Amino acid sequence: MASGSDSAVVTRFAPSPTGFLHIGGARTALFNWLYARRMGGRFLLRIEDTDRARSTQAAIDAILDGMRWLGLDWDGHEYYQSQFWARHAEVAHELLARGHAYKCWMSQEELAAQRERAQAERRPFRIDSPWRDSAGEGEGAFVVRLKAPREGETVIEDKVQGRVAVQNAELDDFILLRSDGTPTYMLAVVVDDHDMGVTHVIRGDDHLNNAFRQLAIIKGMGWPQPIYAHVPLIHGSDGAKLSKRHGATGVESYRDELGILPEALFNYLLRLGWGHGDREEFTPAEATEVFDLDGIGKSPSRFDLKKLQNLNGHYIRAADDKRLAELIAPRIGPQSDVALLTEAMPVLKTRARDLNELAEGAAFLFKVRPLQLSDQAQALLEPSAKAVLARISARLRAEQDWTTEALEANLKAYAEEQGLGLGKLAQPLRAALTGQTTSPGIFDVLVLLGRDESLARIDAQAAEPA
Ligand code: GLU
Repeated sequence: MASGSDSAVVTRFAPSPTGFLHIGGARTALFNWLYARRMGGRFLLRIEDTDRARSTQAAIDAILDGMRWLGLDWDGHEYYQSQFWARHAEVAHELLARGHAYKCWMSQEELAAQRERAQAERRPFRIDSPWRDSAGEGEGAFVVRLKAPREGETVIEDKVQGRVAVQNAELDDFILLRSDGTPTYMLAVVVDDHDMGVTHVIRGDDHLNNAFRQLAIIKGMGWPQPIYAHVPLIHGSDGAKLSKRHGATGVESYRDELGILPEALFNYLLRLGWGHGDREEFTPAEATEVFDLDGIGKSPSRFDLKKLQNLNGHYIRAADDKRLAELIAPRIGPQSDVALLTEAMPVLKTRARDLNELAEGAAFLFKVRPLQLSDQAQALLEPSAKAVLARISARLRAEQDWTTEALEANLKAYAEEQGLGLGKLAQPLRAALTGQTTSPGIFDVLVLLGRDESLARIDAQAAEPA
């Protein structure tokens, strides 16, 4: 159970802007955001744009956009890692001065030879630079490597993974500064986290191995160690790491293509890998009251689109009608009308699981005559159904009270008189009125379309009076 607050807590989300906001990244951002909000601390955003060739403005915009859509507001301005290169280099030089790093002039050929030897001797390759303990200077370009510890072990008390340890002999003298003077990711992350005052590093467990290396830098600088929480990655339904072949992976696809509401995705991602008893639903405010790192599960969670869609349907039913109308109007097209959609929304939203279904279900309101019928609707309208429509038309024409109650009473009485089930009337009526075989309740449809439009649509499909 979470208890107390700690305004000194600083978390961060540190995406590399090389694509869109991945659903796994969004969950990482969510956990960081929640923890900071829960503790009354700060949540920072750092764009890791050091890979200049792969980072794009479009990707940065997609990340910021996706986070805003999910309601994950960050404190202060966003940080851009590329702005701190000079600072990263400065730290590399300080590590040199402290004897925790060294300049290495090994050539590619020497490295390749070491790698081949390791392969031939069937042992894992670990760089063994002659410059590690040399006082001399080489010639030409050099890289700066960390002088990784070789004795003992490095332990991380991870908030999710528990105690994890590696033998230091397994750590390599990785590069801090490349030969062109640019910092590596490993160095940049550590320096930025330190300078930004990050106290809790919550991220995907694909970074757990990096954490051991990063700790070596932190120790070399004598900086305080952050608390780590490495969250298991999201997997697809087949148990493999979530990737494109499982379907959409970008947050914007869930919003734009799949018609998911942000509160549904928020809640789904929250529950994916985090639990609080058996409670299923949380508003953002509720989640920030109870979120804690202890509730994060240790095994990978499986992404289940059906579950997300069902949850989304639930949130659609709870959502404000006008908001939904505004959201689906662009999906219907220029003929749509927000006022009419808002009025119809209580009956439209009862079944839809996403905004596309909602828009499809609403489309009948804006169809122009002659109505295009779906094949199934067309098939329903065989001659006897058309004859029923003709009689219904005559009967409804005489109805003075165009309300769901009156229309229902009227058609029920008619069905009884004819010894027909109500379905025998409702199905052809639905086909004629909406062009579809599924729709909101037929009396609601009649009222929403209004008397004139309803009668015109029925007459267009009805048999000529005998
Ligand atoms: N930029 C890294 C990534 O997108 C994250 C680094 C981190 O969280 O430490 O995978």
